[in-house]
Amino acid sequence: MTRATAPAPCARIDLDALRHNLTRARAAAPGRRVIAVIKADGYGHGMLRVARALADADAFAVARLDETLALRAAGIDKRILLLPGVAGGEELERAAAARIDLAVHHISQIEAIESAWLSSPISAWLKVDSGMHRLGFAPHRVAAAYARLADCAALAAAPRLMTHFAEADDRAGDATPRQLAVFAACTAGLAVERSLANSAAVLGWPAAHGDWLRPGLMLYGISPFVGGTAADHDLHPAMTLTTSLIAVNQVPAGGKVGYGGTWTCPEPMPVGAAAIGYGDGYLRHAEAGTPVLLNGRRVPLIGRVSMDTITLDLRGQPEARPGDPVVLWGRGLPVEEVACHMQTIPYELVTRVAARVHFIEETGRAPGI
Ligand SMILES: *Cc1c(COP(=O)(O)O)cnc(C)c1O
Repeated sequence: MTRATAPAPCARIDLDALRHNLTRARAAAPGRRVIAVIKADGYGHGMLRVARALADADAFAVARLDETLALRAAGIDKRILLLPGVAGGEELERAAAARIDLAVHHISQIEAIESAWLSSPISAWLKVDSGMHRLGFAPHRVAAAYARLADCAALAAAPRLMTHFAEADDRAGDATPRQLAVFAACTAGLAVERSLANSAAVLGWPAAHGDWLRPGLMLYGISPFVGGTAADHDLHPAMTLTTSLIAVNQVPAGGKVGYGGTWTCPEPMPVGAAAIGYGDGYLRHAEAGTPVLLNGRRVPLIGRVSMDTITLDLRGQPEARPGDPVVLWGRGLPVEEVACHMQTIPYELVTRVAARVHFIEETGRAPGI
C-alpha cells in the first residue's frame, strides 16, 4: 500500500492554532496588550512563521540580538523587545538602528546608554529582580537606577518596567504573591506601564497581568502548569511531530530490544520500528512506556531511543504495517505528558526539534484532529 505522505519525520505547524491561542491569552486578560514571546526560533516552531501567523500581537520578544535583526530583515515592523537587552556599545548601536526595545537589567547597560551617541532614540524597559534572582535590579536599587536611566538623552520616552516570575506555575504557592508585593513596593512611585506575566501568570495570576502580557508557551498550545494539558485552557497544540512506521518484526520471548538490550520481550511479540530518534530531537531520555500514537491509538515505546529510530511494543496493534502514521506529540497526544516520560518540560521538547525534520504549515484543520 502506498500513501501520499510528507517525508518523515515531520513537524506540522498549525497556524490557526497559534492564532487561536493568542485569542485565549487576550481572553484571559482583557484589555491588556500582548508581547508574543518567539525566542528560540519561536519555541522551535519557526520564528518567522510564528511572527507572520501572530500578526495580531502587539509586539514580539526574543532573547538574542540576531533574532531581532532577522525579524526586521524579514520586514516585521512591530515593536520588538530584546529580553536580556544588549551587552555593550556596539550591540546598542545595532539595536537602536533597528528600533529594538531593550530590557535594562544591569548598571553596565545604563552606562552604555549614557555614553552612546545613537542615530535613533531607544525604548527601554527597566527590569526589576522581584525575587527570581536571575536578571534585574535589586528592589533597593530600582529607584536610583530608574532615575538614572530616565535621564539618558538617548531615550525616546520614560522607561517602562518589567519583572519575571520564578514559580508562577505553582498556583498554590506564595512565591508569586511575594514577588508581586516586592515589585509593587519598589515601583510604587513610577506611573509608567508594566509587564510581568509569562504564560503561567496570564492563566493563573490575574493580579499580575499589568499592562503588557508576555506569554510564550501558551501561544504554542501548551499548558505551563505541571500535570496540566492544553485542553484545560482551551489551547490548541501548534506543533504535531509525526513520522511513520518503517518495520514490523516478530521477536521471540527473551529477545532484547535496542542498544544495551534494556528491554526484554516477555513473550513472542511484534516489535515496530518508527523513523524518529534523538537526531531529530526526540530525546534519548524517553523511558520505556512513553506513549506514541500509531494509527491514532497509543502504543508504548520500548528499548532505548537511537539516533534515527525508536522501537514500539505492537502487541496492542499486531495488524500495524510499515507506512502507518505515527504521532510523537501534538494533536491527540499532549507534549506535556510526553515530557513527563523524558524527565523534562515541554519547553525543551519543542525547542529541540532538529533541522533535518521537515516543517509543514497547516491551516483550516478542525481543532483536535
Ligand atoms: C521566556 C520568557 C517569557 C515567556 O515565558 P513562558 O513561560 O513561555 O510564557 C516571558 N518573559 C521572559 C523574560 C522570558 O524569558
